Amino acid sequence: MRILLIEDEKELAEALSAALGKHGIVTDHTAHLADAVELTRQNLYDAILLDRRLPDGEGLRFIPELRRTGETPIIVLTARNEPKERVEGLDLGADDYLGKPFLVEELMARLRAVLRRPPNLAELKITAGRMVIDPLHLSVTVDDAPLDLPRRELLVLAALAKRKEKTVLRATLEAAVYNYEEEIQSNALDAHISRLRRRLAEAGAEVSIHNIRGVGYLLREE
Ligand code: CA
Repeated sequence: MRILLIEDEKELAEALSAALGKHGIVTDHTAHLADAVELTRQNLYDAILLDRRLPDGEGLRFIPELRRTGETPIIVLTARNEPKERVEGLDLGADDYLGKPFLVEELMARLRAVLRRPPNLAELKITAGRMVIDPLHLSVTVDDAPLDLPRRELLVLAALAKRKEKTVLRATLEAAVYNYEEEIQSNALDAHISRLRRRLAEAGAEVSIHNIRGVGYLLREE
């Protein structure tokens, strides 16, 4: 899952990105609304976390521009947490509203809640071969037995399985694993794939990952 965090408190943003990372969420962070709008043009986010008081404006005013696909859920994270301010946020289009300070666990629960709502399909379990992947809880099972995979391999696998039998571009796979500030080694993706292949074969997952040279990878059920 990839989310956009629009937050100008640097320490909070860093702590939050790290905490979300532990839940397998890739976070793109910016402190500026103008940059955020640009990022939503370049990436498709599963959710947006939005502060209100930002250096270039009031976050709520940007909700229509940020929600470009019409479906991306937006959760407001703010110190402005009076009842009237919460009403204002929800009426201006926020899907949820969380006052600072908050627990990461509560944010995670609220994220799962907004992602459960139709037409959002992010929470749907993905099946391929003998595997079932739960993207929201970041777990894989093969014939109901848990398969323990490192976070990045699991994210690559989920991105491939979501579009099984179709070629997934390298850039799409990299975007599923790394945020836009992380430097990606040119062979990192291939290394993830080769370890994944071995682990899937060992687990008897009955899927295979094919290299489409120069384009991307494709997951096929055997
Ligand atoms: Ca702020």
